[in-house]
Amino acid sequence: MDPTNKIIAIDGYSSCGKSTLAKALAGKLHYLYIDSGAMYRAVTLYFIRHVVPVNDDRKVMAALEDIHIDFHIEPGVTRISLNGEDVSDEIRQMHVSDYVSEVSAVKAVREAMVAQQQRMGRNKNIVMDGRDIGTTVFPDAHLKIFMTADPKVRAERRYLELKAKGEDTTLEEVFENLAHRDYIDTTRAESPLVRAEDAIVLDNTDLNEVEQLQFVLDRL
Ligand code: C5P
Repeated sequence: MDPTNKIIAIDGYSSCGKSTLAKALAGKLHYLYIDSGAMYRAVTLYFIRHVVPVNDDRKVMAALEDIHIDFHIEPGVTRISLNGEDVSDEIRQMHVSDYVSEVSAVKAVREAMVAQQQRMGRNKNIVMDGRDIGTTVFPDAHLKIFMTADPKVRAERRYLELKAKGEDTTLEEVFENLAHRDYIDTTRAESPLVRAEDAIVLDNTDLNEVEQLQFVLDRL
């Protein structure tokens, strides 16, 4: 790694506002923002479309060889493509959210994604958000933040976001999905969601976006 490049790792539970903070930071510092969750979501969409069972090693390996994920980054907007198709909107839908943590727990999936994430962070200043960025992807990150918030507040925020996009869902369904993903993400064998020892905890239950950004800028 270029010793002069800077990496900010933001990990935490589902729907804690990691991407909102990461985008704001990247914009402020002129770093590149990379949403690692979007990559796992794109893989999941492929698995759903091609009916790849997570316990079929052969099919999983064949799928991973066929999957090509790219980011198209413009100021303020990041789009993600799966084999050339822009899937940025579809990967946010509930049918993907319902399955993404099962797919993300597969060792071969994680190895492929981590390798791509590490390549993307080479020689560049980046802010990357996810679950294992400070522990596995960039253990030497310049700054590590571990985000958390009241589960009810998280579910309400995500529910309002999904409703605004026209998704037909309920607050209960969103709450269950977050609890389900947090459970799998924290208990899986492969790089589970855990706070890195040197990560700073940011509980944003009662903080607005400006306060969160300032919290991180003060620690740089
Ligand atoms: O960040 P987001 O909520 O979009 O991530 C979707 C899912 O992808 C998470 O619930 C988790 O299962 C998985 N993920 C992961 N490791 C990451 C980022 C996301 O396992 N670095």
